[in-house]
Amino acid sequence: LPPVIAIDGPTASGKGTVASLVAQKLGFHYLDSGALYRLVALGCQKHGLDPKNGPEIAELAKKLVISFKNGQVFLNLEDVTEAIRSESMGLLASQIAVHPEVRQALVSIQHGFRTTPGLVADGRDMASVIFPDASLKVFLTATPSARAERRHKQLIAKGISAKLPDLLQDLQERDARDSSRGTAPLFMTDGAKLLETSELSIDQAVKAVLDWYQG
Ligand code: C5P
Repeated sequence: LPPVIAIDGPTASGKGTVASLVAQKLGFHYLDSGALYRLVALGCQKHGLDPKNGPEIAELAKKLVISFKNGQVFLNLEDVTEAIRSESMGLLASQIAVHPEVRQALVSIQHGFRTTPGLVADGRDMASVIFPDASLKVFLTATPSARAERRHKQLIAKGISAKLPDLLQDLQERDARDSSRGTAPLFMTDGAKLLETSELSIDQAVKAVLDWYQG
């Protein structure tokens, strides 16, 4: 099987940016597994499903036609790249991600990204559940305040106004849910390397991952 680099970490840690740049440098494919949960959340909202109804959401998840192309994300052929990025969709994603049936429905699509020459996958359970045989496992994090500031800058750059204290509260709420759920909680797996990025630039973080991988 082609090699996998698994990069897990909490929300707004910068793991998506780092993972996609590492993939670019190595010429590997890139899987943003959070986007899958966000897509299911969007589908759930569109169909008016109850976020608490795991079995029903899992049935829907199996039917969704999901595709990624040049950094764009499509749901049933509709471009939803922007729609899935909102804070509210992130929160809804974390609510539907607690259901084991929903997580199970997304396993084979995630495995499907593992093609030659290799894959960089980011999420919460890449190292623990989806790719336990990954060649390199990275737990990428930053302090809550550094993460809230990054999210704030991102939103401002997009012309969206947001209050720092609200963002901090949202991400702490999401961290608590992601770390305490019964199925595939976020934690640092055995053998993972810790990358604390609060004081690192993007380039430094990318280099650290490449150095570990290339030994
Ligand atoms: O990473 P991102 O913020 O896009 O993920 C949105 C939500 O999807 C997370 O808060 C988490 O609850 C869920 N998720 C997950 N497992 C993954 C990726 C994301 O449970 N592998």
